[in-house]
Amino acid sequence: MTESDLLARHRAVLPSWLALYYEEPIEIVSGRGRHVTDADGRTYLDFFAGILTNAIGYDIAEISDAVRRQVDTGILHTSTLYLIRHQVELAERIGELSGLKNPKVFFTNSGTEANETALMLATQYRRSNQVLALRNSYHGRAFGTLGVTGNRGWSASSLSPLKVSYVHGGYRYRSPFRHLSDADYIAACVDDLREVIETTTSGDVACLIAEPIQGVGGFATPPDGLFGAFAEVLDEYGILLISDEVQTGWGRTGEHFWGIQAHGVTPAAMTFAKGLGNGLAIGGVVAEAELMDCLTANSISTFGGNPVSTGGAAAALEYLLDHDLQGNAAKLGTRLLAGLRAHAERCPLIGDVRGKGLMIGVELVEPGTTRPAPAAATRVMELAKQHGLLVGKGGLHGNVLRLAPPMTLTDEEAAQGLQILTDTISQTEQELH
Ligand code: PLP
Repeated sequence: MTESDLLARHRAVLPSWLALYYEEPIEIVSGRGRHVTDADGRTYLDFFAGILTNAIGYDIAEISDAVRRQVDTGILHTSTLYLIRHQVELAERIGELSGLKNPKVFFTNSGTEANETALMLATQYRRSNQVLALRNSYHGRAFGTLGVTGNRGWSASSLSPLKVSYVHGGYRYRSPFRHLSDADYIAACVDDLREVIETTTSGDVACLIAEPIQGVGGFATPPDGLFGAFAEVLDEYGILLISDEVQTGWGRTGEHFWGIQAHGVTPAAMTFAKGLGNGLAIGGVVAEAELMDCLTANSISTFGGNPVSTGGAAAALEYLLDHDLQGNAAKLGTRLLAGLRAHAERCPLIGDVRGKGLMIGVELVEPGTTRPAPAAATRVMELAKQHGLLVGKGGLHGNVLRLAPPMTLTDEEAAQGLQILTDTISQTEQELH
């Protein structure tokens, strides 16, 4: 069966709103290292790690072996009503790595459920359904998480019961404060936060949920220290800070293990998913015990914490730490950022290059302006694919190329990906202008 047959069948039985990349979407059938192969036998260098899911890469023996050992027991899962050794061990490990005081972990199957849980904890703990979120944010596709998603491309179909106020800070490139220095930008955002609390809420706000680097929002990267400065205001009101680490966790940003650590603040809770299982379905929340234990009603996740996902994730986490993938992300991220910034100097299609570690956004604009150029981003993706490179796309206007390769990326692969990308951006600029 060809990929176009499969596409027709996909369209017939799956929702129209389920996003698919490429004019001719591909079916990925195998992977090794940082490369994947499609059903037609074409191999690509994956600069998006699935969707930041394959943090380590493809076909990692240590992870496959851990999964296989669990499969060999005959138990894929029974129920979290029984003790699960992998779940306890992984919770202990994540708790240690969290830096939180007296941490507890609840496992889910996705980032959405992780954020729903964190919102449930914060609103229960503070007995308030008022929450703060950042403009241009994305936190998942359920009722509460769409409510705190400040990006209309994703949130417009939500009628969430939460009372949400959105603040500035995440997306600097299109912010009214974009021309300010880092310190003045932070001060302006702090003033905005205070004003939003005082003018749109009763002051009794449960939490601020924020991505340290906005993922779907186009790898929008605020200056270091922003959330630390926010925390001073939040503390005055008793508002909890929830860091959504679904994209920024596990060392991907290079300089820190968790994205929020660049801001000199310890959040009340962090949520995670994507990269932890290196492709296995796992997410979760780590929070201080007092917050985690605030629920009085029973709660459960039937599959969250299942032994296949937690066993595989534990192996992935040890691999990531043993091989210092955070260090590799820092080293190669610095190199890619430098290469892209140098290219931006001679390529007016590039409006902004930003990010940290192996989480880099390239915002494309109409040359000589800051007007978004979404068609150019689509074209670059198509051309890159023709040259054997997969990259992601995002941003409020769909005009941001997103680069987030597996953190095992080699020097040669980084150079090769950079070359294809800069060539295809230049070719697109010539074609369109
Ligand atoms: N939070 C962030 C920052 C995300 O990027 C995503 C997904 O892209 C989610 C939450 C939702 O995760 P999931 O798609 O696993 O439900």
